[in-house]
Formats: sequence, C-alpha cells, structure tokens
Amino acid sequence: MINKTALVMALVMPSMLFAQEARELGAHQHGHSALNIAIEGTRIALELEAPGADIVGFEYEAQTAEDRAKLDVAVAELSKPLALFVLPDAAGCTVVSSSAGLVDGHHEEGEDHAHDDHAEKEGAQHTEFHAEYLLDCADPTAIDRIEFAFFEVFPNAQEVEVQMISETGSQAFEVERADPVLDLSGLI
Ligand SMILES: [Zn+2]
Repeated sequence: MINKTALVMALVMPSMLFAQEARELGAHQHGHSALNIAIEGTRIALELEAPGADIVGFEYEAQTAEDRAKLDVAVAELSKPLALFVLPDAAGCTVVSSSAGLVDGHHEEGEDHAHDDHAEKEGAQHTEFHAEYLLDCADPTAIDRIEFAFFEVFPNAQEVEVQMISETGSQAFEVERADPVLDLSGLI
C-alpha cells in the first residue's frame, strides 16, 4: 500500500524509500541497471544505479588519462536525464535538479587481494554510477512511454529494471536493449 506520506518521502529523499531495494555494491550484475521512478503531482523523482562496466566498460580505479576522461564523459551524460530517458513532449518535463557520480566499491575478499591487479580487474572490485534526478512535468499524465536512449548512450548496458511508484500504486518493469521503450499508456 502506498500512502501520501510515502510519496512525499520519495520525492524528498528517494534513496531512503528505496534503501530496502538497494543492492549492495558488488552484488550487481553487469549489463543490468536499476531505475526507480516516483511520481507525485507534477514532480517526478528518478534514481539510477548502473554498474561501472555498463557505463564506462571498466570498474577498476581510473589509471590513465583516457580512463579519467571516460569517467568525466559518463558523468556528463548521466547528468542529462531527459537525453537518457526520453519523455513525450506533451508532458512538458524540465529538469529541476540532477546529480550523478561514481560510487567506489570495496574489495570483497579482504586485504589479501588489495594489491592484486588481476583480482581488481577481474571483479574483486565493483563500482557503480549513481544518479538522482528531479523533474517537473506540466502534464505527467501525458507520459505514455519512456524511450530508453540510455542504451544508445551506453552500449554495454543490456537491461534496466524499473520500479515505478505513483498515486496508482507500485509497478515493476524490465526494459531491454532489444525493445528500449517502456509503454506506460494508462498507467500514470
Ligand atoms: Zn561490477
């Protein structure tokens, strides 16, 4: 059951509401990202979690200027939610706030592997990108679909698990690269 208070909390602090759903770093599956959407009134809060492998193609600590440049480009791309998750023009959505960044993972198997380059590169360490967005939409009911340009921007991404909470309840979807459109007609 979703009540009004929960929705308000979602808009104020989306990461609190979804904390119980959050996967621990290192537990993610490469190719799979997660997008949480909370809609109340004209405000839409989105929270994205994506493996470093999907976004920049590596999860080790940036070691070269090229690595660091990839991270910078990725953060810039992730800071433009409407270019990743394309909403119908009729909804009249604008970005109120946007933040994106890399969350460093920790070694899971103890200090023994801390200096083992091979282990680091082969998966002892996982990093994720996290982003949070707040949109304002003149007419959210006009959102009958979301086009996941996300897959064009990030060629390694394969699937996004979507959780949407609105005044009509909570729904879950999977959007895949092969069919990158989430049909929401009648759902908002
Ligand atoms: Zn990983």
